[in-house]
Amino acid sequence: MLKDLLKDPSLLAEKAYVNGSWIDADSSETLAVTDPASGETIATVPAMGAEETRRAIELAEKAWPAWRARPAAERAALLEAWNDLMLENLEDLAIIMTMEQGKPLVEAQGEVRYGASFAKWFSEEARRSYGETIPAPSGDRRLMTIKQPVGVCAAITPWNFPNAMITRKVAPALAAGCPIIVKPADLTPLSALALAVLAERVGIPAGVFNVITGLPAGIGGELTSNPAVRKISFTGSTGVGSLLMRQSADTIKRLSLELGGNAPFIVFDDADIELAVAGAMASKFRNAGQTCVCANRLLVQSGIYDRFAARLVEEVEKLKVGYGMEPGTTIGPMINAQAVDKVTAHIQDAIDKGAKVLTGGLPEAGSPYVKPTVLSEANTDMLLAHEETFGPVAPLIRFDTEEEAIAIANGTPFGLGSYYFTQDMQRSWRVMDALEFGMVGLNTGAISMEVAPFGGIKQSGIGREGSSLGMDEYLEVKAFHIGGL
Ligand code: NAD
Repeated sequence: MLKDLLKDPSLLAEKAYVNGSWIDADSSETLAVTDPASGETIATVPAMGAEETRRAIELAEKAWPAWRARPAAERAALLEAWNDLMLENLEDLAIIMTMEQGKPLVEAQGEVRYGASFAKWFSEEARRSYGETIPAPSGDRRLMTIKQPVGVCAAITPWNFPNAMITRKVAPALAAGCPIIVKPADLTPLSALALAVLAERVGIPAGVFNVITGLPAGIGGELTSNPAVRKISFTGSTGVGSLLMRQSADTIKRLSLELGGNAPFIVFDDADIELAVAGAMASKFRNAGQTCVCANRLLVQSGIYDRFAARLVEEVEKLKVGYGMEPGTTIGPMINAQAVDKVTAHIQDAIDKGAKVLTGGLPEAGSPYVKPTVLSEANTDMLLAHEETFGPVAPLIRFDTEEEAIAIANGTPFGLGSYYFTQDMQRSWRVMDALEFGMVGLNTGAISMEVAPFGGIKQSGIGREGSSLGMDEYLEVKAFHIGGL
């Protein structure tokens, strides 16, 4: 039993949290939450829909005036206390996450720290939503801007980071003075509900932070069509993001969309090979490759190709596939059977088109696990060069010139994360300028942190999370004109 694994079993909440109350669906129906390793049900949550969502929006709207009127320092103090409680309960939060999502416990603990960092960061940013004074066109006038909270917000989040994808939306919304309704992924609602338990415990007022669980289409339909919701922040697939954008059109909502990626990872002949291999391990295999900024296509220059492939295989073979709760596991199960099927189809397609399996290979039928895989002689005709594989598969595509690498890297409708490895200073600048991505990592495989703007261009989305820009997503700018002085 999941409850028995927790020091504080009250963190396992199986009801939705709306306006400070823990509630069931109107129908009393529930959805099962399963352990992706075993397929066993570990908890149930309310199967809510449009009607419950409509009421939650109404209540959040009622909570808004008092919340926006709270001094920024008080909102900041509550967010800081939320951060502290997340860190105090790190082990339990990580266990809940590993049980519902599958990632190794150590990674889950890392995600809780990363998630908490947004609460801390935005508690600091809450005090800094500065406006500006603007030189007026004549002496009898003054002109200034102030920033004000946008209003009731909604967050729709994915299963791959069940904690951090929530905190990086909720913390800036609350810091800005907005109430928020979170609809977590139906596969991983327990981490979101545990965050609500902690928010209630620190005294975040009723109606300011709400979590609704249930069926995506009904809840999403209401959140996008209800005029009281002024802003939607979505992280997930490009397909669902574009649907929500269309659904939000009639009420002209502010939107932040953090969508899919197809990250290139370019290794030039002059790269430090050890740095490049370490970067590939960090970027490609974290969360079993189920990360939006995962290296999806590894482009390796001819002169270093064989040496890089050999070193990468050596490191990949040290990974330990297994149950996330088992110490030492570095690759957990995939989230579900469809995810395994997609990875299988990508590996099979690559093999059919001439790729060679250097290590790993096709998953065993019926298993939730995918062996970490390195494929050589991959090319741009293969499925895995066009779509997010979202699994622990590293396809190595050979290239000869810098121009060729840039053309392949940019040859995608996506533009989220990208990486390149070189020790040549001129090339460093040229390539950074040329890569059409929201985030570019030079000689590093880590590009996600609360202090830096996170987000994509092209079909990878709109808006930025984290950094000072993350607050602006929840603020409106009002221009104030004073005349007759
Ligand atoms: P998904 O789009 O299937 O689901 C995301 C969320 O949308 C879930 O909460 C889901 O229940 C909800 N949803 C699905 N259909 C809906 C509908 N009709 N109306 C309202 N809500 C609906 O994505 P996923 O499989 O959970 O996550 C993986 C995807 O997320 C990948 O494409 C990945 O690249 C992307 N992602 C992007 C970022 C980023 O910051 N850019 C971060 C993490 C994940």
